Amino acid sequence: MGTVRQEKTSFLKPSDELPDFVNLKGAEISAQSCRRCPLWERATQTVFGAGASHARVVFVGEQPGDAEDRMGLPFVGPAGRLLDRALNQAQINRDLCYVTNAVKHFKWEPLGQRRLHKKPTSREIQACRPWLEAEIELIQPEVVVGLGATAAASIFGVPVRIADVRGKLTHVETVGRTCLITAHPSSVLRAPDSDTRQTEFDRLVQDLTLLQEFVR
Ligand code: SF4
Repeated sequence: MGTVRQEKTSFLKPSDELPDFVNLKGAEISAQSCRRCPLWERATQTVFGAGASHARVVFVGEQPGDAEDRMGLPFVGPAGRLLDRALNQAQINRDLCYVTNAVKHFKWEPLGQRRLHKKPTSREIQACRPWLEAEIELIQPEVVVGLGATAAASIFGVPVRIADVRGKLTHVETVGRTCLITAHPSSVLRAPDSDTRQTEFDRLVQDLTLLQEFVR
């Protein structure tokens, strides 16, 4: 009678330090079995970052949305399409950048048939930060761009008001490199009317234009 070999999977608990990764692929594979916070339970998969492995600019969003959770890629839903449009207008080539999220599992609550996005807590942002640190360490970008309040909280290590830090290239000690904070594309999509949406979109483009010297 043959024996059944059981694959051993090691899950990363909240108290575990992340190992040193040789490359992004190794980190991405390891993140698939992350259990450092409860968000993995209801999500389809870990959505790791994607893009150029030696990008000069890394974009950090909040967390994967519904489309990203299903496809396993960051910024491929409506907010991703708006980001693409804004980058295009700011003459930034997304293919030369790396795009990721502060939190790598989709947090949601049911609303009828839909899965409604739910904001991650400070504890979840903190639990997931080592993955962002690993990405930054492996890529060594010149600029880290925080899109929205969750990304800004992860970058600074504490909650900040976007209005206080937005739109300037600043050296941030907690990341050890230059950072730029701007709005999350989904906040532009949520603007109450088309005039406000256009104004917010233009402000986003204006902020992204500051990256032109790094990626064109
Ligand atoms: S959200 Fe981040 S810390 Fe939490 S389980 Fe997923 S990968 Fe791990």
